[in-house]
Amino acid sequence: MAKQYETVIGLEVHVELATRTKIFCGCSTKFGAAPNTHTCPVCTGMPGSLPVLNGKVVEYALKLADALSCQVNRYSRFDRKNYFYPDNPQNYQISQLYLPIGHDGALTIHAGEEEKTVRIHEMHMEEDAGKLIHDEWEDCSLVDYNRSGVPLIEIVSEPDMRTADEVIAYLEKLRMICQYLGISDCKLQEGSMRADVNLSVREAGSSRMGTRTEMKNLNSFKAIAHAIEGERERQIELLEEGKEVVQETRRWDDNKEYSYGMRSKEDARDYRYFPDPDLPPVVISQNWLDEIHASRPEFQEEKALRYQQEYGLPAYDAGILTQTKRMADLFEETARLSGQPKEAANWLMGDTLKLMKEEGMEAEELAFSPEHLASLICAVDEGKITRQNAKKVFTAVFREDVDPLAYMEEKGMTMVTDAGAVEKVVEQVLADNPKTVEEYRSGKTKVLGFLVGQVMRQMKGKADPGQVNRMLLERL
Ligand code: ADP
Ligand code: MG
Ligand code: ZN
Repeated sequence: MAKQYETVIGLEVHVELATRTKIFCGCSTKFGAAPNTHTCPVCTGMPGSLPVLNGKVVEYALKLADALSCQVNRYSRFDRKNYFYPDNPQNYQISQLYLPIGHDGALTIHAGEEEKTVRIHEMHMEEDAGKLIHDEWEDCSLVDYNRSGVPLIEIVSEPDMRTADEVIAYLEKLRMICQYLGISDCKLQEGSMRADVNLSVREAGSSRMGTRTEMKNLNSFKAIAHAIEGERERQIELLEEGKEVVQETRRWDDNKEYSYGMRSKEDARDYRYFPDPDLPPVVISQNWLDEIHASRPEFQEEKALRYQQEYGLPAYDAGILTQTKRMADLFEETARLSGQPKEAANWLMGDTLKLMKEEGMEAEELAFSPEHLASLICAVDEGKITRQNAKKVFTAVFREDVDPLAYMEEKGMTMVTDAGAVEKVVEQVLADNPKTVEEYRSGKTKVLGFLVGQVMRQMKGKADPGQVNRMLLERL
């Protein structure tokens, strides 16, 4: 019988913090600026420049440590990780090794029906490196130091995951926590969340760990899932042939669906870590920790429960609306402004998600205002527009955040609610169709529909059918 293998996975995740300025200088962290415009002597590693720690970075790290139930090192320190590479002008990266800000935490994930706790080994603060650009000019590489010194938190898990589904559930949960905390937007495509996957295989039932490889360069959940499958198969094949897995860093090429060796894995010794003499230790007061804990936001699960209780939403709806903080905020504000939570939920879960899917958009990119959605909801409720037309108006709200009332007016979709105007048409239709009126009065009540239709046609669909019905009945 063929041997059964178990996959063992641990993740090292880098999250770029959404602070306004860099970790050790005042340069902007804004993404997408012209190359080397957000730089200074500190973040380009000029001799004699000195780093000064950005307090926001520590605050954000503590928030994450609290959310991940980590133990906090109240006395924490920065260390130099020495290596030479052109994107790293100091020749060392300021990171934390000996006394990281947090350790021994946990993250509970749901993969399918299963609930599972993944242990967090440690989390630490560090600076990002610059960016090398290789294919812009011939025969040379360019370097952009805008990213150099952007604050990162690295979160290292224990090797507790077993499948790609668990890995993705872990990353999604971590991303959700960071977004809810407002410490990072965690966009994989833009690199504000980056995951390195450490993977080994072993015979099912064995308690000994296999030799692992580390895969970098994974910038989508799809690439991560592919890489895990591909690497698992590659390692199993080696073991089946009686060969050994070499501990190394590999680069996954999602186009070729294959990983290739980049470098044999360095261990901590190769980096000659030592405490950074330019930075004092970080001492964290119990007071600060208490404040951080007290300011902990309402996370997804609590929020979803509250939506069920406060707004009477089904669990399924509450779960979807709280998937991202952006969507949850939009929902709450629209519900409050319109006074109609159920309608707000329906517009967001129906038309909004549909349009987002069509345009391949993330919730973070939603740009319409809750005021405009709320005023559309009220217009439908007050009979100022038909549901069918409201859907068209919503598309414009979604795309351009138009004011729905002005837009309806401009496109001639506003219904006539002026009773006098509708009455006039109703009486005209009754006068024009004496035969039908006769039929109705002799018991053929079905003809009412025809009369409503006549009124609606003359009003070009801009009357409230309910109101028309009532008016006709009063006169019949
Ligand atoms: P290094 O310092 O060399 O990067 P670590 O011990 O910090 O190594 O581990 C890095 C990551 O690799 C962690 O996320 C850990 O869970 C994972 N890991 C360690 N051993 C294994 C293994 N045998 N199989 C899979 N993942 C592993
Ligand atoms: Mg590591
Ligand atoms: Zn700088």
